[in-house]
Amino acid sequence: MSESIVPPEVRPKPAVPAKPPHVAAPSPTAPHGPSGLGGGGSTLLGYIGIDTIIEQMRKKTMKAGFDFNIMIVGHSGLGKSTLVNTLFKSQVSRWSSGWGGEHKIPKTVEIKAVSHVIEEGGVKMKLTVIDTPGFGDQINNENCWDPISKYINEQYEKFLKEEVNIARKKRIPDTRVHCCLYFISPTGHSLRQLDIEFMKHLSRVVNIIPVIAKSDTMTPDEKNEFKHRVRKELETHGIEYYPQNEFDDDMEDKNENDKIREAMPFAVVGSDKEFQVNGKRVLGRKTAWGVVEVENPNHCEFALLRDFLIRSHLQDLKEVTHNIHYETYRARRLNDNGGLHPISANNTQESNL
Ligand code: GDP
Ligand code: MG
Repeated sequence: MSESIVPPEVRPKPAVPAKPPHVAAPSPTAPHGPSGLGGGGSTLLGYIGIDTIIEQMRKKTMKAGFDFNIMIVGHSGLGKSTLVNTLFKSQVSRWSSGWGGEHKIPKTVEIKAVSHVIEEGGVKMKLTVIDTPGFGDQINNENCWDPISKYINEQYEKFLKEEVNIARKKRIPDTRVHCCLYFISPTGHSLRQLDIEFMKHLSRVVNIIPVIAKSDTMTPDEKNEFKHRVRKELETHGIEYYPQNEFDDDMEDKNENDKIREAMPFAVVGSDKEFQVNGKRVLGRKTAWGVVEVENPNHCEFALLRDFLIRSHLQDLKEVTHNIHYETYRARRLNDNGGLHPISANNTQESNL
C-alpha cells in the first residue's frame, strides 16, 4: 500500500494556510517519514490547524456557559451551607443558619434549589445548589432518602422528555444532579446506619462525594483514624463513591484517581469569615488557639476538595452523570415502558432503586 503513495516532492506544492499567530509552532520532534498524510507527515504539507479545535471549543463554551448542579446532604448544623459558600466564595447557598432569621427544622426532608450565575475569566457557570434541609433530623429516619432520590430521578425524566421531543431544544437545560456532597458527622466513631443506607441507595443513581464535616473538631490523629475507618466501612458495604473505580478511562486516569480515593473522604472546614494571618487575608475560623485556615492544607483538606471538585473533575462529574447515571435511567425507562408513556413519581422512584 505505502509504495503506491506518490512521494511529496513530485506533488504540486500544497497551498499552505497561514498559521494563526496564537498557535504554537509545530514541534521539531513531530513524526516525519512515510507515515502520516501523503507519506510526508503534517510538517511537509504545512500547518492544517487541527489543534485550533481546542480554541474553537473554548469560545463556544465561553459563549454558551455551562450548568453545574451540586446537591448537599447531611443532617442540619454540619456546615453544609457554609462549605458551599466557601467553595464558591459567595452567598450561593441561601439556607445558611444566619439567613432569614429563625432556623426551624422542617418536619420532612425538603428540597430547595437555588441557582446563581457565577462568572470567572469570561466563563459563565450556572451553579445550582440543591439543599436538603431536614435530612436525618427526625427520630425515625427510615426511607428519608426517598424524596432525594425522587428529585434526582425527576431531573433525569425531565431531560429524557426533552431529548425525545420531535422539536427538541438546541440546548436542553440541564437540571440533573452532577454531584452529591454527603456530609459525615465528625464523631470519630463510625458511620451511622443512615449514612450507610443513604450512600448505598443513592450511589447507584448519582455521583456521591463523602466529606467529613467540621474537621476542626478533631485532632490530626483522630481525623486520620476516622478517615481510615470510614473508607473501610464504605468498602465493607460495597458503596461506590465518586470517582468510581470502574469508570477510570485509562492507566493515567486510574493512577490519578487512586491517589484521590486514598485521600477520601476529605476532612473539611468551612467559613465565610476572613482573618489577617501573617499579613494576608485568609478565610478561617478563629479559635482560642489561633485561626484554622480553610485553604491551608496543613489545617484541613478543603483545598483538596475544591481542586478535585472544580479544578480537575468538574467536567468528568458531568460526563459520568450523562454517560452512566442518566444512561442507566434512560435505558431502564425505555425498556420498562416500551416507549415513553407517562409514569407516576412513585414508579420513577421504584424503577430506579
Ligand atoms: P447546615 O445546617 O449544615 O447548612 O450548617 P451551617 O452551614 O448553617 O452551619 C451551622 C453552624 O456550624 C454555623 O454556626 C457555622 O458557623 C458552623 N460551622 C460551619 N462550618 C463549620 C466548620 O467547618 N467547623 C466548625 N467548627 N463550625 C462550622
Ligand atoms: Mg444549611
